Amino acid sequence: MDIAELADRIRAGERRALARAITLVESGRDDHRARAVALLDRLAGSGRQALRIGLSGTPGVGKSTFIESFGMMLTGQGLRVAVLAVDPSSARSGGSILGDKTRMERLTREPNAFIRPSPSQTALGGVARRTRDAVALCEAAGFDIVLIETVGVGQSETMVAEMADLFILLLAPAGGDELQGVKRGIMEMADIILVNKADGDLKPAAMRTCADYAGALRLLRKRPQDPEGFPKAMTVSALEEEGLQNAWGEMQALAAWRRENGHFDARRAEQARHWFGEEVRLGLLARLEKDPDARAQMDRLGAAVARGEISVSGAATQMLAALNG
Ligand code: GDP
Repeated sequence: MDIAELADRIRAGERRALARAITLVESGRDDHRARAVALLDRLAGSGRQALRIGLSGTPGVGKSTFIESFGMMLTGQGLRVAVLAVDPSSARSGGSILGDKTRMERLTREPNAFIRPSPSQTALGGVARRTRDAVALCEAAGFDIVLIETVGVGQSETMVAEMADLFILLLAPAGGDELQGVKRGIMEMADIILVNKADGDLKPAAMRTCADYAGALRLLRKRPQDPEGFPKAMTVSALEEEGLQNAWGEMQALAAWRRENGHFDARRAEQARHWFGEEVRLGLLARLEKDPDARAQMDRLGAAVARGEISVSGAATQMLAALNG
């Protein structure tokens, strides 16, 4: 299929075309990349904008269950929902597979939903680009909501927060009254903390955990992109489908406030600039890797640095000078 036709089908919202396009942007082959870029260029400026929601949580907190319930609620309201998973493979060991369709059975069958599990990738840079491109494709396909799911490990959360309009942290009820080992940096990224499993025997613990986090969030420095009362902590039960409408209401209120106050577009502009810089950096590195002369020079200088014959700074300066020449 040529790129023009693929673009038309994506614009028409065809899920098969979208899946195919995502496979294309995931490919590492140079000729595929050229086609992917042509496609993305063609679709750019479609004027369509989804609400991009980043969702993070450690394995077992209930991400799949939440996405299934939350996604069904949204499609029930006539919204089209895309789910993308970000799973740097280093984080996969021991954890569950993200975007596992067997755990989102109802949503998988829902015509207004599109679920894309994470591909096996190694470098976080590659995952970031693939996800960013996939988000753009989903927007061009007219999805209203793009949920970007990631595990609470390593750098992937920061990356997802850098491409989302809203960032949601999903937590499970803590055993005691101590805060779970959630890193401060991750809490600072969250717009809404959802304490899941607020049902049955776990409900009191969930409410306690929620109150603890609400207290901790109040101690954070107020961010300019937040209205009064944000970031906030709430309880939900993904299993019993409770609190989901409430959580969605808060997400909408926050997004609306940011839109009205110029933060929404400003943040997207800043993110676009960030990813552009990142892409150029990655491209330069790739070029360095591919150029045999440059690689030989790197090896030579690297060995000299290892032997202590030249300083790190001296070697880097020489290397960069050689590249300029
Ligand atoms: P993920 O690894 O974060 O995707 O978590 P899953 O969605 O696979 O859920 C992990 C376990 O927690 C499963 O056994 C779920 O049934 C359970 N679970 C998820 N949500 C809830 C909830 O709201 N309440 C209760 N009680 N259990 C839940």
